[in-house]
Amino acid sequence: MPELPEVEITARRLDTALAGATVESALAPGMNVMKTFDPPLEALAGRQVSGVGRVGKMPVVKFGDLALLIHLMSAGRLRVFDKRASPKDRASRVLVRLDDGRELRLREFGTKQRAWAKLLPADAVAEDESVTRLGPEAWPPPPLEQFAALIDQPHHLHPLLRHQGDISGIGRSWVDEILWEARLSPFKKGSDLSDEEIERLHTALHVLGDAIDHYEETIGEQLPDKAPMPLKIHKREGDPCPRCGTTIEAVYFSEHQTNYCPQEQTGGRVLKDRRLSKLLK
Ligand SMILES: [Zn+2]
Repeated sequence: MPELPEVEITARRLDTALAGATVESALAPGMNVMKTFDPPLEALAGRQVSGVGRVGKMPVVKFGDLALLIHLMSAGRLRVFDKRASPKDRASRVLVRLDDGRELRLREFGTKQRAWAKLLPADAVAEDESVTRLGPEAWPPPPLEQFAALIDQPHHLHPLLRHQGDISGIGRSWVDEILWEARLSPFKKGSDLSDEEIERLHTALHVLGDAIDHYEETIGEQLPDKAPMPLKIHKREGDPCPRCGTTIEAVYFSEHQTNYCPQEQTGGRVLKDRRLSKLLK
């Protein structure tokens, strides 16, 4: 599930790999992937890739005054391949064929088709509703005062930090790492934080920058489909906390889980497994 650091390194590597490449043709084998129809995807033919960037967790591929805004959702991947996809490749959603034989491919794994793309005038990207509804980028972090204001809500930190409308770029993996770094409970409410805790949480956003640095060092020119994420806490239940050695615990929800160190984040308390407590009711 790509989050800010993963999408950032994807954008950086694609930017280098695609600089100046010319599009031969573009098509969308994914039936429902294109959320715009004017200009048509074919309008990319003959254009040069002028840059690849990112807004929140969304990659943006620029072709002069047109831009392809992509939402990978949970299972989408964007990569350049040396050869064209087989027409039988059922994971293909958008194919941008380059005149040097390479292909920029948006693929999606699994059965659900949820990834989408919009081809927009480049200057309209910032006004697209998927972009305007985003909160400030989590990395580089917003100024402390702005962060304090957006976190001041009566919601648990775990969903609050993942709510893209409040702060963009954090998902289910990195939220656990940020909260562990800040030594804060995932079930603490944003509005209940002291000034000192807000500062700690704000500072902890550096784990996103550290992750980008890690990827810069470990990922070569070719992006893998799934780079190992440098996670210390997320999905590490049963392992010792890398800081204090206490066993890392987990709370499971229907589609995700949160992990934490009880010693340092919840005052020594092991939180109830909500899945289990529901079953027992
Ligand atoms: Zn610990």
